[in-house]
Amino acid sequence: MCMYYKDKVAVVTGAGGVLCSVMAKALAREGAKVALLGRTLAHVQKVADEITAEGGCAKAYQCDVLNADRCKEVAQLVQAELGPCDFLINGAGGNHPSATTEHEYFHMEEKRADEKSFFTLDPSAISSVFSLNYMGILIPTQVFAKQMLGREGCAVLNISSMNAYTPLTKIPAYSGAKAAVSNFTQWLAVYFSKVGIRVNAIAPGFFSTKQNAALLWNADGTPTARTEKILAATPMERFGTPEELNGAVLFLLNSEKASFITGTVLPIDGGFSAYSGV
Ligand code: NAD
Repeated sequence: MCMYYKDKVAVVTGAGGVLCSVMAKALAREGAKVALLGRTLAHVQKVADEITAEGGCAKAYQCDVLNADRCKEVAQLVQAELGPCDFLINGAGGNHPSATTEHEYFHMEEKRADEKSFFTLDPSAISSVFSLNYMGILIPTQVFAKQMLGREGCAVLNISSMNAYTPLTKIPAYSGAKAAVSNFTQWLAVYFSKVGIRVNAIAPGFFSTKQNAALLWNADGTPTARTEKILAATPMERFGTPEELNGAVLFLLNSEKASFITGTVLPIDGGFSAYSGV
């Protein structure tokens, strides 16, 4: 353990999820006081209890990141109960099956009436995925970055994706939204550069979690054709484990180690983004 994180306040959204619960635990092990924000209190409470049982400091808060009023209420609670926010990890995000096409390519042959093609995607489903992944970062940053103003060593970390570089098939809304997350990370980094708030992102490659399970695994647990393609396109030939994000998270949030790093998007992808497939 380094002493850098001792008693610093880390706010993690989507902290009941697979990747961000692991990041929250890593920060708590380093001595940070962690505020776990999630849509469902029971999910974040479970993670908080696990951290507390390990001797760490964590508090769970029900918070839909798209509800600006609730974010403001929770920010006041965090400040009163743990102290002002030093680090914000914007982890809430994900795709939804309703914003996913059934096939990778459009062909001319006759379609089933219920087939989910680009032409039948419901615009409100697209809008909802966009909103979660983009506004779901913007709103908590508006609220929690206020607590960082005038203080030293504060940082924001967003979660982008491989989709941000080149869109993956089937998930146009999620891909577009994650491209926007990388872009917004750069915008925020410039905007906050004069007041010492660093803003970076990580772009995880492929991690098998709840939000992408339906795309990666058949009901019987066998890999889908998509999983086979992902592994063939990942030079390390495996999915990442959530713990493999922790090094980058702890590095990018640390203003002693990453003092001159702002506006970057760091791929953590087993070589996926470096590989042309040939
Ligand atoms: P996950 O579904 O396990 O976690 C996401 C969490 O966000 C869930 O707990 C969910 O309840 C919460 N959430 C959703 N909507 C919310 C809202 N409106 N308000 C508050 N919380 C909300 O997924 P994960 O794979 O751990 O994803 C974490 C982040 O990493 C997401 O931004 C995701 O897009 C990104 N990501 C994941 C992968 C991957 O391979 N799993 C790859 C790249 C990026």
